[in-house]
Amino acid sequence: MPRAALRLLLVAPLLVALVAASQGPGRSAPTRPGAPAAPAFAALPRIAQLEVTRLGGIDHVSLREAAPLLGLRATWAEKERQLTLADASGKVVFEADSREVSFHGLRLFLGRPVVLRDGVVLVSKVDFERVLLARLRPALLGAPPPRPRVVALDPGHGGTDNGMENKSLGLKEKVLTLDVAQRVARLLAARDFTVVLTRKSDAPLAADKATDFRRRAEVANRAGADVFVSIHFNSLYPDTKTSGTETYTFTPQFQRSDRAWSPAERDDTERDAAPVNRYDAWSSLLGQCLHREIIGRLGTLDRGQKTMHSAVMRGLDCPAVLVESVFLSNDAEARLASTPAGRQRIADAIATGIVAYADAVAALQPKPGP
Ligand SMILES: [Zn+2]
Repeated sequence: MPRAALRLLLVAPLLVALVAASQGPGRSAPTRPGAPAAPAFAALPRIAQLEVTRLGGIDHVSLREAAPLLGLRATWAEKERQLTLADASGKVVFEADSREVSFHGLRLFLGRPVVLRDGVVLVSKVDFERVLLARLRPALLGAPPPRPRVVALDPGHGGTDNGMENKSLGLKEKVLTLDVAQRVARLLAARDFTVVLTRKSDAPLAADKATDFRRRAEVANRAGADVFVSIHFNSLYPDTKTSGTETYTFTPQFQRSDRAWSPAERDDTERDAAPVNRYDAWSSLLGQCLHREIIGRLGTLDRGQKTMHSAVMRGLDCPAVLVESVFLSNDAEARLASTPAGRQRIADAIATGIVAYADAVAALQPKPGP
């Protein structure tokens, strides 16, 4: 066992300090009435005691100060203005004034830019606790969710909503998402997961989109889903060059979504937590597992792990990710999506990512007593 892992095991019983209440500017997170209690969001007392620097009303913590508590080595490169945290499993590279992080070679966009202040590299506390900690040291998050058994798959679009289309190849996103979801379902059922699909046919769940989205989440919640994955295909017509994979988690409370960082967009920060925000940290880990497998297995361009205020994920009672697998507006990727073998490869990658997450959570379960 690596020394760092042993050290974590030794301090695990000390997981007590609740930090959820310190997420943002002085407000606790109301959730839907009647929703089950949030899983304990705890961190090592030493991590809860990390010095907090308040900048523009936002709490930040020092990455260099956090590194030894996580069993990571910190290195600062002055010329590149980059701080690297590393251990035997890989490295995470942060750059001053950028939201983009290279996480074990994959692109990850934080909710706020990394700040360099008086020679100290700071990340927002929300990013540290809800995005980075889960990916680096999930054992430090406190009580893990139960070992995942029920997986909800959401084939995007349906009915009159075709989603994206590639007219020259005769492709409709709503048809492809259902086909890929059914393939993922078969792969997971063969691994003893219970799988529910939010739709099993072309029929929409409601005439209006808002109700349709809400009902998809209700299907997953009623089934007691431990994991929710929404499957989509991307498009950027008239641009046909852009290709690659994006994975989205629901935007954490007090942050703005990725799209809202472009200058033309308004700030869409939400002051109240959505039900699915209770699972931010675990959604982040799920996103990492899916993104790694999809990029690794399909060899697609890495367009990054991002966040959005997704209506379909908002009301969920479990960790959730939305996958924009490949671009239908890009000929090469559309051809992959147009063949059963290509769709099987996409399904394989998604199923493997879900299994990787389930294995990671299973490994965190408390060991039965003697
Ligand atoms: Zn879509």
